[in-house]
Amino acid sequence: MKKVITVCPYCGSGCKINLLVKDNKVVGAEGANGVTNQGELCLKGYYGWDFLNDTKLLTPRLKQPMIRRQRGGDLEAVSWDEAIEFASSRLKAIKEKYGPDSIMLTGSSRGTGNESNYVAQKFARAVIGTNNIDCCARVCHGPSVAGLMTTLGNGAMSNSICEIEDTKCILVFGYNAADSHPIVARRILKAKEKGAKIIVCDPRYIETARLADIFLPLKNGSNMALVNAFANVLIQEGLFDKEFVANYSEGFEEYKAMVAKYTPEYTAEITGLDPELVRQAIRMYAGAETATILWGMGVTQWGQAVDVVKGLSSLATITGNLGKPNVGVGPVRGQNNVQGACDMGTLPNTLPGYYYVTDAAAREKFAKAWGVASIPSEKGYGLTDVPHKILEGKIKANYVFGEDPLQTEPELSLVRKAFAELELIIVQDIFMTKTAMIADVIFPATSWGEHENVFSSADRGFQRCYKAIDPPADHNVKDDWEIHSMMARAMGYPMKYNNAQEIWDELRGLCDLYAGATYEKMADLGYVQWPCPTEDHPGTPWLYEGKKFDTPTGKALLFAAEWRAPLEKVDADYPLGLCTVREVGHYSCRSMTGNCSALQTLADEPGFVQVHPEDAKKFGIKDQSLVWVSSRRGKVITRANLNNRVNQGAVYMTYQWWIGACNELTVDHLDPISKTPEYKYCAVKVEAIADQ
Ligand code: SF4
Repeated sequence: MKKVITVCPYCGSGCKINLLVKDNKVVGAEGANGVTNQGELCLKGYYGWDFLNDTKLLTPRLKQPMIRRQRGGDLEAVSWDEAIEFASSRLKAIKEKYGPDSIMLTGSSRGTGNESNYVAQKFARAVIGTNNIDCCARVCHGPSVAGLMTTLGNGAMSNSICEIEDTKCILVFGYNAADSHPIVARRILKAKEKGAKIIVCDPRYIETARLADIFLPLKNGSNMALVNAFANVLIQEGLFDKEFVANYSEGFEEYKAMVAKYTPEYTAEITGLDPELVRQAIRMYAGAETATILWGMGVTQWGQAVDVVKGLSSLATITGNLGKPNVGVGPVRGQNNVQGACDMGTLPNTLPGYYYVTDAAAREKFAKAWGVASIPSEKGYGLTDVPHKILEGKIKANYVFGEDPLQTEPELSLVRKAFAELELIIVQDIFMTKTAMIADVIFPATSWGEHENVFSSADRGFQRCYKAIDPPADHNVKDDWEIHSMMARAMGYPMKYNNAQEIWDELRGLCDLYAGATYEKMADLGYVQWPCPTEDHPGTPWLYEGKKFDTPTGKALLFAAEWRAPLEKVDADYPLGLCTVREVGHYSCRSMTGNCSALQTLADEPGFVQVHPEDAKKFGIKDQSLVWVSSRRGKVITRANLNNRVNQGAVYMTYQWWIGACNELTVDHLDPISKTPEYKYCAVKVEAIADQ
């Protein structure tokens, strides 16, 4: 038995794992002593490797390239040469007929790694000639990136995961760490044990609420009102850091004017919170020697998400909780490599290293390095633009890499209707996902564990994953970067790499932020946090040293906005607000965790809907009974879970179930800046099914 070091493929905590390998088969996993996890793992880390063995519990592994010669026909297994020729000739024809911007591509925030994402965006920009590439950050932490880029000049966590336990106060806002990042939750617990104060703002009595010194069960959809009320108290009671505000921030007078009316008393009707408790909470945050704000999807998956991120950033700014250890702003990224997919430029507005596509000098640098005349300067389409742009006739082909939009996007009936109009769908994945089922071309890829790569954890930490096993002998699969390279060559562009390190070194040569992050520095348990501009630089655990911000003026921007209600209103027909959430045993579209036998036993189709017992009584619903959940867009069957931890008037579902797929119900309402969907609120009804 040998042990191979890798990084868990399931969340942005970046836990290091030793995979136990016997006879080219993974047979177990142990926690390795990584920087963020210190030898610990959660259950997904311990039991989430089984899908490599093609258990077929949910869906089979993709083993062979496949093409569908005609719509309505069957998928047919073919050679790599034939699949590449089939896909590249159609893509070329679409590019010639409709132009490069008629093609959409995705990066992948999952087990494929940074090198493959770098190659995917290079394929989009240098081969196709479009910035139409995006990743699932659009539907999760896009607002964190957009908001923090504006207020602080950098869209990532300001401080490190391991610093969380040494902060004196943690404000947990819309973030269920125990389910989404158990190893981060452990740091919160350690902070509590070391005497930190914990404030939790969440409509549900989540696990972290049990540790909280103050729990604020705000009403769904009232985030901006509460953040403004916090700012109001800080200013009215003079609790802010006047020196920091005067010297290192801008916009104070506008900020003060905007929050002036948002007293805790004024906002009580919107938030449902006791004004005195709101005052106590923000006094606790402002009075701590060091304080950290952590947030998750409860902040970002709203129609007013970017404003709230800017508001949270402003709370850290006016209290001086930036630019030193154990403080800061912490958007804890969800999927294991969503930070990395953004770092690599699988975004429609930035190249690798966060150079804007509108920056002529950056475009020229990348064009020269890639040997093309130019890089497009127009921002491309985002993931949530896709259904609309297809229906407008602007997107004709979609090259979907390591994503399953037919399961994960909001308002699935709209997505299906749009995808049916596409002239070409290429899916590059490891499993037969819902999107793969309707593809014209399927490229089967190697999985995490079968290739080496670098991941970025949520706190900007680069780590290496080593290859543990070869793919099984009957799996005719290739590394993602090799597939994109084959497509590039078939389309006339000379893309050729021999290994992942060659790609990484090309990236380092182009991006100042990553220039010093060598494979050698990241060897074994190595951890290098960007910015790392030179090879003798150790990396940067916390940002904004000297209180210098990466904004055009070098100052942090203070920002507040008027509160806006969620789009949909509950009424007599749809009396409950549906909020989509996470569960600890499953991940993303479930294609990986659903194929792990230990994880699969935790829960099964058709998922569940959490309902408060009083609402259940009102609607005649029994615990564990099957129910219909309907919105104005669809109807799914699921199982009722009567639960005292949820608030009355709201119900909660997770999004990975194929039968109880809650994205049949969600609404395609987007934040106007980040275009992130309001997954956290739509009006539904829950009905008992008779004769059970
Ligand atoms: Fe760590 Fe996240 Fe993997 Fe759990 S799922 S082991 S917290 S990286």
